[in-house]
Amino acid sequence: TCPECGYTAKENRPTQEKFHCVACGRTAHADTVGAINVLRAGLVRRNANPA
Ligand SMILES: [Zn+2]
Repeated sequence: TCPECGYTAKENRPTQEKFHCVACGRTAHADTVGAINVLRAGLVRRNANPA
């Protein structure tokens, strides 16, 4: 999933390590993108269930 525009496609991952969004052209390390996606999911969960 692209951290910039949210586009999700297997074409965004040309290799295991690289991320290249085919929709907006964003490039990043795949691990960085994964971390951003995990962080975003955690924030969504926190907002849905405020302590
Ligand atoms: Zn994108």
